[in-house]
Parts: sequence; structure tokens; C-alpha cells
Amino acid sequence: MNTLSSDQKLHSCLTIDVEEYFHIEAAHGHVSKSQWDKMPSRVANSVHKLLELMSRHHCQATFFILGDVAKRCPRLAKTIVDAGHEVASHGTNHDRLHRLNAVSFAQDLTISKKILEDQTGQQVLGYRAPTFSMVPQTAWAIDVLLNAGFVYDASIFPVMHPAYGVPDAPTQPFYVTGPSGRQLLEVPPLTWHVASKNVAVAGGGYFRLLPLWFMKRGLKQSLSQNRPAVLYFHPWEFDPDIPRLPLPLTGRLRTYIGLRSAMRKLDHILSLPGRQWTTMSSNLDHFRAIAGGGQPYALAA
Ligand SMILES: [Zn+2]
Repeated sequence: MNTLSSDQKLHSCLTIDVEEYFHIEAAHGHVSKSQWDKMPSRVANSVHKLLELMSRHHCQATFFILGDVAKRCPRLAKTIVDAGHEVASHGTNHDRLHRLNAVSFAQDLTISKKILEDQTGQQVLGYRAPTFSMVPQTAWAIDVLLNAGFVYDASIFPVMHPAYGVPDAPTQPFYVTGPSGRQLLEVPPLTWHVASKNVAVAGGGYFRLLPLWFMKRGLKQSLSQNRPAVLYFHPWEFDPDIPRLPLPLTGRLRTYIGLRSAMRKLDHILSLPGRQWTTMSSNLDHFRAIAGGGQPYALAA
């Protein structure tokens, strides 16, 4: 286990999956892609609010930007980079890996990587799959990411969930082995280990729907274990006025509860002592050292 001196803040990562309110998985099957162009864009406004909050707290973050957002808001990625943050890829059209194959995923990745690199002039190093859909059935995607030149992935959530998750995957950075036998650095979101289970506390619906003490317990535990903490949020979660989509009841509850209090809660999290919130890329040496001290994890169906 890595060690820190008492006066050294644990470097942890704030990550934002930059997508519109209509890109969300809950809307899949209810709002078609052909309707996207007719829907008002809200994402840039929310990103600017988040950039202001981070500036106030002297935080840096990694923004996993969807290629479709980069096309709609061509100045957004450069604004984010100019404010000192990292830009990484969230794919192009927010398709879960289950709906893609090695060929279509390679195209999806190439489009998003190129547009972000063209807009920022910086290399895109990292990727996060929509809805953490990197699971044993989609392990082929590891090799596609390596072929496309990605340096790290942040798509494996080591929790039990009906739609995603790899419950026995490591909860610290690790090397994941794809079907070809090659390895990629994997950096999972924060989990809280309690009663022999990994509880998801890193962000998204868990952040909005659960009391804030869940996330704080996870953060406190990771601090006591010198374990990096990676949190994730979405710009639409901080916009109470997003148009409501015709979703089924469960989708409406998961998506629209907690929007009004989200900014205040994140403000509180960023105020907690003992951490310096930074980008994924600025921690890569630290993550590689942790991963190199553990066993590679073979993701295979
Ligand atoms: Zn997403």
C-alpha cells in the first residue's frame, strides 16, 4: 500500500461525464437520436457553473466529453483545457458498449478522440464508457482502447448492479488484461467497503439520491486506507431546469430527484479537508505504482 506523510494531501480525482440531459441511458428507447437536434442544449451552461465552483475551490478535474457534445459546442473543450483541466473521451454517441462491437466501437472512439484533440491541441489519454459498461461481456473493448492509443480507462465499476459492474474487480487502480493478453491501466470509481460488499458512493444517482454521508463515509475510508478516490458527476445533474423527458417512472425518479441540491452538496464535498482534487492524467504515475503492486485483473466473459 502506498504511504503518505501526515502533511501531504491525498490526491484524488474529480471527473465529469459531459453529456446533455437527452444523451442519458434512461432516455434510450424513449428519445430517438433523430430528436436530439431539436432539443435545446443545456450542457455548456452547466459546465461553466462547474468550472466556477472548481475555480473557487482550486480544484482540477477530468472532463470525459461526449463527441456529440464536442460537435454541438465546439468551444467547450478548449475552455475546459484553458481553465487547467483535462479533457478525455466519453465516446461519441453515448452507446453502451453492449450495443457496439469491436469495429463500431473503434469508429466511435476515433471520432471522439480526433474532435477533442483538434479542438484542444492536446492528446486524449483516457476513456470512460457510457454507464460503466466495461464488463466481462464487453472485454473486447480493452483491446480496442489499446489499439486507439488510450493510456487509461475509467469504466469498470467494482460493484454489483443489474446494468453494469464487475463486483470482484479491484477497488484501487489496476492493470486490466483484455482478450489479447495486453494490459491497460484501469482507474475505478470510489467504493465504500462495508459488510464484505463494495457500495457505490462515487457520484451520479448515488450522490443525488442517497444522503451525503454515504459519499463521505467512502471518502473517509479511502483516506484512512491511502486509497485514491475517483468521483464522477454529470453537468445535467446541476441543472434543475432541464426539460423533462417522457421517461417511465423509475427513469424519472433516478434522473430528476436531487437536481436542486446537487451544487450545494458538491460544494460541501470539495470543502472537505485532506484532499487535493486533481485530474486523472496528473495522477498517472501514482496510479501506475499502485497497479504495479497488485495482480493484473483478467476481464473475460
Ligand atoms: Zn454518460
